[in-house]
Parts: sequence; C-alpha cells; structure tokens
Amino acid sequence: MVDLVQTVEWEGKQTRLVKLGGLPQRGAGYTRLKNRRIEHVVVHQSDGPFTAGVRAPLGIARFHTGTPIYKTDAGGQVIYVNGKPKWIGGGRGWPGAGYQFCVSAAPEVQDGKFVVYRMHDDDVWSWHTGKHHNRRGVGVVVAGMYASRHAPGNDDARMTPDPGAVTALEELVLTYLLPRYQLDATDLLGHFDAGKAACPGDFLEQWVRHVRGEAFPDPREKLVIGAPGGAGDKRPLKTARQRQQALADLGYSLGPAGVDGAWGLDSKGALLAFQADHALVVDGLWGPRTEAAVRAALAETAE
Ligand SMILES: [Zn+2]
Repeated sequence: MVDLVQTVEWEGKQTRLVKLGGLPQRGAGYTRLKNRRIEHVVVHQSDGPFTAGVRAPLGIARFHTGTPIYKTDAGGQVIYVNGKPKWIGGGRGWPGAGYQFCVSAAPEVQDGKFVVYRMHDDDVWSWHTGKHHNRRGVGVVVAGMYASRHAPGNDDARMTPDPGAVTALEELVLTYLLPRYQLDATDLLGHFDAGKAACPGDFLEQWVRHVRGEAFPDPREKLVIGAPGGAGDKRPLKTARQRQQALADLGYSLGPAGVDGAWGLDSKGALLAFQADHALVVDGLWGPRTEAAVRAALAETAE
C-alpha cells in the first residue's frame, strides 16, 4: 500500500491541499533555490495510468524518477536523434517528480473535501516545462484528464472530465496559488503557451484561456467533451475506461468504484446486464456485436 506522509497545508471551501512527504527522488540534480521568485503557474496534464487519489502523484513521481531505457544499435550504443538519446521506455530519469502540485482526475475525498497534493516545496527547482518556467514557475498537473484534438488516436481523447477534479483544480489555482504568489490571472499558463500544443488538452486549455479573460467560454458550461460513440464517431471503444463510461452513460451500474479504468467483476456485471437487455449472447465479452449495440444505444440516448 501507499505509505506517504500527508500534512494538510491549506483548506478551501471544497478542496484540501495535502503536502506529500516521501515521494521518490533520484537525489542528483535535486536543487533548492533559496527565495525562488515564482512568476507563473503552469497547468499540465499527465497521460498515464495513474488517475485516482494518491496513486496519481505517486505514479507520476515513480515514472519521472525511474531509470530510462534508450534505444541501442546492434553494438549496444545508445542511438541519438536530434542530439537526444532515443527514449523507448522505463522512467524519465529526472531528479524528482516534474510538478509541484497534482490534481488527481479521480480525486479522493477527506472530510467532505477533494484532496489535491503538493509534491515539492516552493524552493525546489522542478522539471515540468522549459528552463525559464522551471526556474520561475510552479507546475500543476491534472493526472489523466486528457481531452485533446491534438491527439486523434488517443484512447482517452473523449474522456469526460471529472467535475470534482475540475472544481479542485479551479479552487487550488484561483484561491490559493495565484494569491499565494501575488500573481494575477494572466500569469496562469498552460504548457501550450510554451509550445507543447497537446498539453494540457482541449478542456484545460479552454479553462486556462477563460480564466485569463481571453474570448473563450467557460468550458464548465458543457463538461462533457464528446461522449463516446457520438454520431459520426467510428472509433472503437477500446479501453476499459471508455467501455465503463459507455455503460455508465447507458445507466448500467459499475458498483462503488465507478469508471476507474479497471475492468473488474462490477464492469463485467454491467456488460452482462447490457447484453441481456439487448438480446445479445450473454458472455461478458466485448465483441463487434456488443460494440455495435452499445454504439446504437448511445446514439439513441444522444438524440
Ligand atoms: Zn505539460
């Protein structure tokens, strides 16, 4: 089980900021800058499997500090592309987790408040964007809220943001971070401002721009970013999360865990019930006939 020291740093109306002690570090290059002046809050999204509660910051810290694996040639020499070793897996090899703050896409609730996490003290140099932003900014990641037109092949591109995560992010940024660093809304950035077009994804990009006062509507007015299986969407529902979301949208119960990306007995039960209701072979397998029936049912509910 996860064993991290958790200290409450701040509490808002609906959100609690918890400082995590004991996240993985690599040591070398882990730098503290006395009286670091913070000029920006930069919002990111992390497209990993860790989206729930404290597993999100822990999973991100493990990935960022893990040992990278690089592509090698037949002689065992690392292959470089554009001056950089070609990364093919493992971790990132960074001194610490890339971000100062983490909002889990499926936040845990303590004492009636959504929990968000501090991963580093303010004086820690971080690794989330380019040099300037790392030196003079703090990074806030939303773990697993990837909804982006820039990633058409991304399985999570149609994910519906969790309203709890959006609430927590909004409260953390607007009522804690910006006032804490004496910044105004125009000091809020997305990674897209530093050239990473796909980060933090459509929903959060729109939210950042809306907060800055640009001519973008509040994306919270339509929290659903393209429900899976909408008209004209021919991509198969491939991931457990997409399939769970589709069954949930159709009114089938997924048990207490809800849409969590882990296909367990409750998910299978929901699928069996759907198959029984739609005169399909009740085998709990997601084949082409089941896929087509789910799609048809979603199209019907969308009308
Ligand atoms: Zn980013």
